[in-house]
Amino acid sequence: MKSGCENKKSTKKRSVELPILNKTGKDRTEIRASTTSRWRAAALIGVNLLIVLHIIQWLVMGRTLSPIEPSESMYTLQQGVLNAGFIFFALAILATLIFGRYVCGWGCHIIALQDLCAWILKKIGLTPRPFRSRILVFVPLAVALYMFVWPTVNRYMLKPAGEPLIPQFTNHLITTEFWSTFPPIAVAIPFLFVCGFMTVYFLGSKGFCTYACPYGGFFSLADKVAPGRIRVTDACNQCGHCTATCTSNVLVHAEVAKYGMVVDSGCMKCMDCVSVCPNDALYFGFGKPAAAVAKSVKKTASLSWPEEIAAALVFGSAFMAVWDVYQLVPMLMALGIATVTTFVVMRSYKLLTTGDLTFYRYTLRSGGRLKNAGIAFLGFAALWTGLNAHSGWVRYHERAGALAFQSLQIPDELALARSNPDPWLSASDRENIAVGKQHFTKAVSTGLFTNVDAMPKLAWFEYLSGDPEKAADHLAKAADRQTGQGRALSLYYRGAILNRLGRFEEAIASLDKALAERPDLAAAREEKGESMWQLGRRQEAVTEWGDAVQNNPRLVLANSFLSGAAASMGRQDLAADYRSRADQSVPADARFHFMLGLRLQKAGMNDLAKENFQRAIKLDPSIQTRWVLSGGDR
Ligand code: SF4
Ligand code: SF4
Ligand code: SF4
Repeated sequence: MKSGCENKKSTKKRSVELPILNKTGKDRTEIRASTTSRWRAAALIGVNLLIVLHIIQWLVMGRTLSPIEPSESMYTLQQGVLNAGFIFFALAILATLIFGRYVCGWGCHIIALQDLCAWILKKIGLTPRPFRSRILVFVPLAVALYMFVWPTVNRYMLKPAGEPLIPQFTNHLITTEFWSTFPPIAVAIPFLFVCGFMTVYFLGSKGFCTYACPYGGFFSLADKVAPGRIRVTDACNQCGHCTATCTSNVLVHAEVAKYGMVVDSGCMKCMDCVSVCPNDALYFGFGKPAAAVAKSVKKTASLSWPEEIAAALVFGSAFMAVWDVYQLVPMLMALGIATVTTFVVMRSYKLLTTGDLTFYRYTLRSGGRLKNAGIAFLGFAALWTGLNAHSGWVRYHERAGALAFQSLQIPDELALARSNPDPWLSASDRENIAVGKQHFTKAVSTGLFTNVDAMPKLAWFEYLSGDPEKAADHLAKAADRQTGQGRALSLYYRGAILNRLGRFEEAIASLDKALAERPDLAAAREEKGESMWQLGRRQEAVTEWGDAVQNNPRLVLANSFLSGAAASMGRQDLAADYRSRADQSVPADARFHFMLGLRLQKAGMNDLAKENFQRAIKLDPSIQTRWVLSGGDR
């Protein structure tokens, strides 16, 4: 079998002869159609229909069984969240340990997509050919270890003494948040296109399974010890129909001749080879596992060893460039993109350095001259790798900005105590703000999409560097594109900043939207109460702070405001009561008391403000000097 794109004049002998390809005219025997392929297609259509029904049932009823998706197992292993995905994955691995990769061949929605793509390509006369890399074939296992084993190892190394290695399980079999761990639909569609279609077109019928799927990494290992295998009888005459039919790139006729069974762990038990064998020589049966014999029959590699190393470097760079870029590209999609980039780069190199080259039925280069198809291929390669490189540029700035953000030391409450947090910034904060702002500005201004994770962080850097107006604008833009918790937080911070700017009506509007997303966001109620108090809507402010402390009785800020409000209304007993509640949770931190003093002072609650300033100075006398040096409240 040839690789997808091969030197026309290559005189290289095949690693394994495929008899059927050598027969012509009268001698050539037709391969009979597989009857099991129809059953498998029906099973895979059934799997996809069940997935659709599952989603519809959730949309209609609001709660359903958690996603039956192996990636959900990560949450079980990391957080003890027992879900349907973990149970399915555990049972699937168990089944594979006995029967081999039937779950892959007959129960995976991604293989259904890959098969559909291969079928469409064949209908238009293009037969996908396998790309064979000896290094990249280990990617699925490496990713599987990273996803499913590394978190446990990490916890073992970091866990405090006495904490159990296995987290305590909690029942999450039923969920209302069915889609929460999946990418948005706008990402899911290109995800399926890249992983289901592009990988097949460029890397072969099982391109995604071979080079990207982490579950396949475990299934492939489990298959090696499975006693259930495709086996052969003495009736085999080495006609090669089985190998010609196999879409999993298995050299069936050679393996059964050498070992009496298929040992290649890429075999997904589709049963096509069994169905097409003219001598009915193949069957599924139990016996010695593949691990008991030597490695599978050697296949012709698509790359030399130096090329393999170059391909691994391209793959690694392409993967790191796109993984989580714009906080949009999930890991599996990044793996799919990286495999396509690797193929495209390596083939472009070959196209530029070889005399003759074809791709499917197209001649890319002949007699050392580039053909139109070759120019088109290079054009696509330039566009694709250019996009990949651009993503890498954006991702680099996103990562560097996020690193600077993580290193900030100033607490949010202190920064939000006044519209200019400058006096509280340490030297390292100032440096991180400058660096982070620069990186995020580049990422946001050159990015093709709005990064809803970078935008609020850039807004925070703008606020800390003294531009609250710009910060509020960025947060509004971020909130427009966010959902759930992220949107609630952006709207809350925007409301808080607008409050510091004295734009109280706008602050209330923003905080109301935050509370619509997250009614339990107490900090938003504290801020909203403050806006109302400033607007003279005092009774509404008291109600808002009252709502905040109802669910969180020890909230320091809301209790302090309630204490100040009660004092201003002459209710000293109530004021003392709220103050003692605030005191129960107030940290012995000078900066916190100073922040509290500033907020109360702004609200005209001067006695309480003074008390907090005095406490702050008692805890840290230098705080007064810093305040005076900064020019007081500007
Ligand atoms: S290797 Fe992954 S994508 Fe391929 S069939 Fe198995 S589970 Fe599905
Ligand atoms: S197993 Fe069947 S199809 Fe395969 S080489 Fe032998 S006779 Fe031919
Ligand atoms: S070896 Fe046979 S059963 Fe296995 S994937 Fe290939 S055709 Fe299907």
